[in-house]
Amino acid sequence: MVFGGIFFACESLVNAQMVATSLPLKRGFSKIPFISPYNMPRYSIEQAREADLIKTFCKNIRQRFRRYSWYSDPCGGVEWHADLRTAAGYPLIYASFGSGKDTTLFMGGVHPDELTPIHLSFRFARYLNAHPDVYVKHGIKVIIAPIVNPDGFFQKYPLRTNRTVDVNRNFFTLDWYEKAGKAWRGRRNGVARYFPGYFPNTEVETLFQVKLIDKFKPDKIFSVHAPLGFLDYDGPGDQKPVHLSRLERKAKQFVYAVSKKTRNYRVVDYSFYPGSLGNYAGNERNLPTITLELKTTEPSKVEEYWLKFLPGFLQSVHYPFRKNRSEVNDNATRFFSIYDQIYLENQG
Ligand SMILES: [Zn+2]
Repeated sequence: MVFGGIFFACESLVNAQMVATSLPLKRGFSKIPFISPYNMPRYSIEQAREADLIKTFCKNIRQRFRRYSWYSDPCGGVEWHADLRTAAGYPLIYASFGSGKDTTLFMGGVHPDELTPIHLSFRFARYLNAHPDVYVKHGIKVIIAPIVNPDGFFQKYPLRTNRTVDVNRNFFTLDWYEKAGKAWRGRRNGVARYFPGYFPNTEVETLFQVKLIDKFKPDKIFSVHAPLGFLDYDGPGDQKPVHLSRLERKAKQFVYAVSKKTRNYRVVDYSFYPGSLGNYAGNERNLPTITLELKTTEPSKVEEYWLKFLPGFLQSVHYPFRKNRSEVNDNATRFFSIYDQIYLENQG
């Protein structure tokens, strides 16, 4: 009787599954690139191929740079790493400088139609490579990801998106499901270049940033964009004019310290968006996050910007702020570590 009951239950379960799987997928769903343990290999770089992929990538970037009359070798002698690759197969590169504890994550090229930040981020990496005193003496660590969204960059005309999604609206912030779609249709009139994705965390470029935060546990983040012309701060003490704690004041002071080193560049308290880095890292995880918006995306401006902003870049990595681990909510970043573990277990 007992066996029969179990058998019957199993049989009806199988039948139910057959019914469920015989229904066709709704339009669009089959094309959504969910990143899961099952398709992780598509986005992972095998160690044996890492060096070759990066070498070819650097050659391609260098060639593309000439289009903008940038003749320097972007990758230079920097030791680049890449664990992930994009849908188009480009490696998502980053470099690490110094071995100190205070860590700054520096990023460019999230929106690759904003050209100037890409040039400056590569250049800052080469600068650090040539000037170890910047980090050795100060006991700090700097992680640079100069081109977070290469798929968008290598289009005929660089895009804001990675071809489909604005990867700076795709972070899994708490307000994503409620607000990302509304914000896109409302504030942005549903223009494709601001599309936040059908779901959060569908884009490998977003996952890349999450994984950098997860792996290096930065104390602060500096991300370069253009062309709004200001510095914006998200993090502890943001949008809180009074009654700041000592830690909040210290964190918030970060943006004014950078401004001071860049001829008092304008600081604007810009609101953050559902699914943006400022919201994900700054607002939700209490990581002081600065967005530098250069004034233009005009390639000929890079020399002027380099001279103007290098002191600010240096301040961004030198500003002494060590986050209190207990005050950081990194549950969502851990979520991806679990994914990694499942993936590795399946491999092993
Ligand atoms: Zn941008």
